[in-house]
Amino acid sequence: MSSNKSTRDDTIAVHAGRRPLDNFGVVNPPVFRASTILHPTLDSWENRHKENVHKYGKHFVRYGLHGTPTQFSLRDALSEIEQAEDTALVPSGMAACAIPFLAYASPGAHFLITDNVYEPVRRLAEGYLKQLGCVIEYFDPRIGGGIANHIRPETKMIWLESPGSLTMELTDVPAVVAAAKKAGVVTGIDNTWSAGYFFKPLAIGVDISVHALTKYQGGHSDVMLGSVSCATPETFEKVQMAIAATGMGASPDDTYFVQRGLRSMPTRLKHHHEAGLKVAKWLEQRPEVRMVMHPGLESHPDHALWKRDFSGACGLFSILIDPPSRAALESMMENYNYFGIGASWGGFESLIVTSFPGRLRTAVPWTDSGTVLRLHIGLEDPDDLIADLEAGFDRLAKA
Ligand SMILES: *Cc1c(COP(=O)(O)O)cnc(C)c1O
Repeated sequence: MSSNKSTRDDTIAVHAGRRPLDNFGVVNPPVFRASTILHPTLDSWENRHKENVHKYGKHFVRYGLHGTPTQFSLRDALSEIEQAEDTALVPSGMAACAIPFLAYASPGAHFLITDNVYEPVRRLAEGYLKQLGCVIEYFDPRIGGGIANHIRPETKMIWLESPGSLTMELTDVPAVVAAAKKAGVVTGIDNTWSAGYFFKPLAIGVDISVHALTKYQGGHSDVMLGSVSCATPETFEKVQMAIAATGMGASPDDTYFVQRGLRSMPTRLKHHHEAGLKVAKWLEQRPEVRMVMHPGLESHPDHALWKRDFSGACGLFSILIDPPSRAALESMMENYNYFGIGASWGGFESLIVTSFPGRLRTAVPWTDSGTVLRLHIGLEDPDDLIADLEAGFDRLAKA
């Protein structure tokens, strides 16, 4: 391949990480399952960590847990998309969130966490990081440069998620990064919503970007995997230490599925973007809907930030409704043709779930008495989804 590589994601997603000529011409790197890796010489065995005969790109194959060409190719592809120095793979998106905290945890370490963080991260912080002696502080996702007032000498990492889970507030990431850099504090972001396609945090100075590859990279609701992309070799080294210390590896079969999904991810995301906005705009006109929480809408309080920092939107957003009764809500939710009730998102199908930000928030309490519904707009024709939602609102009114 010439060194004149494209920087456009649609092309990168198709070509990145593949080495057909190293794999008998097979287009996608195949599934290499391994624990043992055999070495022909004693020198190769004894130097396996830094130099051995089994080289795949810049990576050395040394033990199944640490990866085979299957994992190395996906790591390289994700690094290209995230503009990262290197990317580690872990068994789930939650593992990807946990690893940076473990990498920087120590007694007295202060972590600043956005208040709209993915809920299990809060459980990690409350249940385990506090036990380890870490100090946890949640902050208003709309804090921007005001984060500087919360940074202490002991602050080890600022954790971002933008838009954040359930209620979709955006953070002014460049403003937080500027304050963090001034104080020498590491920043990490859960970039799952943008899929690394609509937003490039490492390009604007964030140190660590994690993904639930379970979502759009996998894309088919049939695999779980996570990634941790790092801006510098030093950060990657710390992340790798935490992964090695906890014995985490990514299954080659799961890795293969994610790699397969990645090839079509940009094309799918364009559909999710357009269909999601179409449905969101329709919902905005409905009398049953009090608020649509989608940053691509002009009515969203962070729309200007979204326009500045993002090149599009995925299919995930939330709405606020006031159902007349539990029975009416059940009748609406349980009888859709296409919207399923279930966790996760980023697959080809549409989903709708109730969610409860009021139980979670501490920095900015969520006191609204309405019902928050989180929708994932899949790859169906959006007009069919709109008809499905419309019939649901009829049921809501009747029950
Ligand atoms: C789903 C999700 C995760 C966790 O991913 P899993 O692969 O399900 O563990 C992390 N962060 C966000 C924002 C998510 O939506």
